[in-house]
Amino acid sequence: MSFSPKRIVLHHAAFDFKNASLVSRLNDITSWHLSRGFSGCGYHVLVSDTSYLVGRPLDRQGAHVLGSNSDTLGVCLTADLSSRIATESEISQLVAAILMLRSKFGPLPVVAHNQLAPTYCPGPYLLSQVNASLSPPSFLSFYLSKIGSLFR
Ligand SMILES: [Zn+2]
Repeated sequence: MSFSPKRIVLHHAAFDFKNASLVSRLNDITSWHLSRGFSGCGYHVLVSDTSYLVGRPLDRQGAHVLGSNSDTLGVCLTADLSSRIATESEISQLVAAILMLRSKFGPLPVVAHNQLAPTYCPGPYLLSQVNASLSPPSFLSFYLSKIGSLFR
C-alpha cells in the first residue's frame, strides 16, 4: 500500500520542552507515542524555533489525526500554544518544514488539527500565522498580476 498525502496537518505538542534539543524532544514524543501503542513518533516532522526534524519516515502513514491518517502528513510544533502564540522563529521553521514537504509531495494545502477533529490543537492562531507567512506579500501579488496582464 503506497502512502500519498493530500494535506498537511498542523499540531502543537501541548508541552513546554524548555531548552531541550529537538532530538531529545523527538525521543520524548516517540516514547509517549510508543506507550500509546503507536509504532513510533506519530508525526512526520517535528519543529522547534531553530530547526525541524523528520520523525515518522515520509513514505509511511503517520498517527496524528484519528480517522485522517491515511492521506495526511503530520507536522508538530514542539511547544505549548495553550497560553501564547507561536514566535516568528517558530513560524519560519514551520514554513521551512512545509516547503520541504511541498518540494517532495507537491503544493499540499495546510490545515489545523482542530479542523479535522474536536480538539484545541494547535490553538486558534497557528494556521493563520503560517498561512500569512506562506502567501506572497500583497504588493508582490499586485505586480505579478500587472506583469501577467502585459502578456494577455
Ligand atoms: Zn494535534
